[in-house]
Amino acid sequence: MTTTANQPKELWEAVLGDLQMHVTRPNFETWLKNTVGIAFRDGEFVVGAPNAFVAEMLEQRMYSLISLTAERVVKGPVEVRFQVLLSEEVDAADEPEDADDQRLTEAEPTGVLHPTFNPKARLTTLNTKYTFGRFVVGKSNELAHAAAEAVSNRPGEVYSPLVLYGAVGLGKTHLMHAIGHRAVANGLSLIYATTEEFTNEYIKAIGEGRTEEFRDRYRSTDVLLLDDIQFLIGKEQTQEGFFHTFNALHMTNRQIVITSDRPVSALTLLEDRIQSRLAGGLVVDIQAPDIETRLAILRAKAETINQDVPQTVLDFLAERIHKNIRELEGSLNRVVAYADLTGSLLDVELVKRAIDGLADPDEHRAILDYVVVDTVATHYGVDQQALKGRKRDKKTAQARQMAMYLMREDGNMGLTAIGRALGGKDHTTVAHGCDRIKTQLPVDAQLRRDLLKIREALAAA
Ligand code: ADP
Ligand code: MG
Repeated sequence: MTTTANQPKELWEAVLGDLQMHVTRPNFETWLKNTVGIAFRDGEFVVGAPNAFVAEMLEQRMYSLISLTAERVVKGPVEVRFQVLLSEEVDAADEPEDADDQRLTEAEPTGVLHPTFNPKARLTTLNTKYTFGRFVVGKSNELAHAAAEAVSNRPGEVYSPLVLYGAVGLGKTHLMHAIGHRAVANGLSLIYATTEEFTNEYIKAIGEGRTEEFRDRYRSTDVLLLDDIQFLIGKEQTQEGFFHTFNALHMTNRQIVITSDRPVSALTLLEDRIQSRLAGGLVVDIQAPDIETRLAILRAKAETINQDVPQTVLDFLAERIHKNIRELEGSLNRVVAYADLTGSLLDVELVKRAIDGLADPDEHRAILDYVVVDTVATHYGVDQQALKGRKRDKKTAQARQMAMYLMREDGNMGLTAIGRALGGKDHTTVAHGCDRIKTQLPVDAQLRRDLLKIREALAAA
């Protein structure tokens, strides 16, 4: 894929250009014109809509068309998500009513934030769909769900920080936003930031000599939601900023919620003092969902998009996609769109055609191995074949171990699978290679820089 995370705006404009030719002008003007591309990463395209109503309409009436158009433009599978843009013109007069509604029903959040939230601070905000009401609880996530509920009912009192960790696509961000919606409904001030946003703001504040302002803003919030803390790794300066923000909030009993794609004990590249602060909170994990939960999620999703999907189709998808809920949802969207556009009956045969080669988790994995091998080899300037071979000079050996480490840590691959991807190494060799990198990282600055560089290249790949 040639697209990268830093061009969502232009990409979305290309999608709009295409859409313009397929919808009537009034429709385009009313629903699509004022949308903007906010982020595009991991096949997820976040698009901002001016208000919750437009977001809802786009989601319910035009989803298939939008999603297929986006896939055509980016040349790959895409999950489009609509978020409400936060503008300075948020109509304060409408607000108390909406907030009340939300408190009572909580099923359909408004996306309107409490006035104390500083709208200038950030463009994106909570996803209107990520509520407790829409979160399907199963064995794999019941603990995390319960902790999130507890925290949002008694913020700052029970567990702070709350750290949610789990592999990608298992609902960490969803739960975090749910806490946010609840906090907003209860009149609390809130800052939600991805760790990337936090980092960018902090660096910018330093550059402009406005760190005081930065501090004040973060320190005055009731609830701080910081998503994907693993991105603090390697950013020493920002870690400093985070540490002080954290302490200030902690001392005044504010609620901090953090998500991470790995357990706190594996965040070895964060400063010890941060790691131990996180470990001092409540740390709960989310596991991959079992089959019942997967089915329940698919059923709920089919309902929200108003689709009657045969049980056999749901079974088929639930059986086939088990590690990532985003992919699970994406596959359903895809087959529904496919049936829509081709005017065919939605059955298992059609599903096989629609998702073949796209949502197959094994295929996904093959691509990942390949990308890791390629990226690592390029970074170290060694041959891919050497990486898969037996050469033992220092550079090749380190590159090989680095590839093992990345497949394990970032790709969640098993030792045997990694061995296979690297030309048939046995699992003890792989385990040793991963350990070797793990133990070297804290003491080898060059290795840390290498890891960072490679991760950046992987993110762009
Ligand atoms: P993560 O942050 O862990 O990568 P997300 O929170 O972004 O994952 O979840 C990925 C997608 O899966 C989102 O669309 C989210 O709404 C959905 N999802 C995850 N867990 C659940 C759940 N238990 N019930 C319903 N939807 C879920
Ligand atoms: Mg997330």
